[in-house]
Amino acid sequence: MILMKDVYKTYANGVTALNGINVDIKQGEFVYIVGPSGAGKSTFIRLMYREVRPTKGSIYINDVNVNEIKEKRVPLLRRDIGVVFQDFKLLPKLTVYENIAFALEVIEQPPSLIRKRVMDVLELVGLKNKARFIPDELSGGEQQRVSIARAIVNHPKIVIADEPTGNLDPDTSWGIMKILEEINDRGTTVIMATHSKEIVNTFKNRVIAIEDGLIARDEHRGDYGYEN
Ligand code: ADP
Ligand code: ADP
Repeated sequence: MILMKDVYKTYANGVTALNGINVDIKQGEFVYIVGPSGAGKSTFIRLMYREVRPTKGSIYINDVNVNEIKEKRVPLLRRDIGVVFQDFKLLPKLTVYENIAFALEVIEQPPSLIRKRVMDVLELVGLKNKARFIPDELSGGEQQRVSIARAIVNHPKIVIADEPTGNLDPDTSWGIMKILEEINDRGTTVIMATHSKEIVNTFKNRVIAIEDGLIARDEHRGDYGYEN
């Protein structure tokens, strides 16, 4: 479902972030992206939802070459991909409910479906009782759970998380992992960049290590493989 063939990325300033990436990720996999800072993890992830364009090579999402689709079709591609960020990126003036509903309002879903979907994802992330709170009234872990709820409310086939536990303490991170594992058990492909040795070595999944813009390791149920 995600296929990269000989992908290179050199930024406008001349920095080469990716140096010939080949990868094949199947529907339903859970994949960690690990590696040192500056290795190319974020670039790798951003290519999938066309936040970054490759300098050379092809990226296919469900047999569609994402670099060849027209600009006006990019939102359609992104409907299939839910993205979760380290810093949550919630809208500060909207309630939890509104932050999540917004993702469906922009694609003009009927109000009855919006209400049902939002309540279902709030249940999944355990925040039904905080639907009327605004982000500032929540802990970091709760805000991350809202951002996961927003990412999955449209039932995307892929969830991409760029260091989702980077700002959270270990106990809170555990709760986030349980939710991502649950989403994966329901059939969603999960791609997660992380610097957490504890998480990777505890919740065993495929591990792709990127070093100097290349895939240095690709292991089924792998280890983190770095000291921290
Ligand atoms: P990380 O992905 O490790 O959390 P960032 O995405 O903030 O961190 O940045 C990773 C590296 O990329 C940093 O060294 C940063 O200086 C560099 N970087 C990020 N954005 C730009 C940019 N627009 N221009 C130049 N360098 C950038
Ligand atoms: P990682 O996520 O592993 O930290 P990145 O993909 O963020 O790595 O960065 C890989 C390399 O590309 C780094 O050298 C970084 O400085 C550079 N880089 C990242 N984003 C940009 C950008 N927007 N413009 C220029 N250079 C960038």
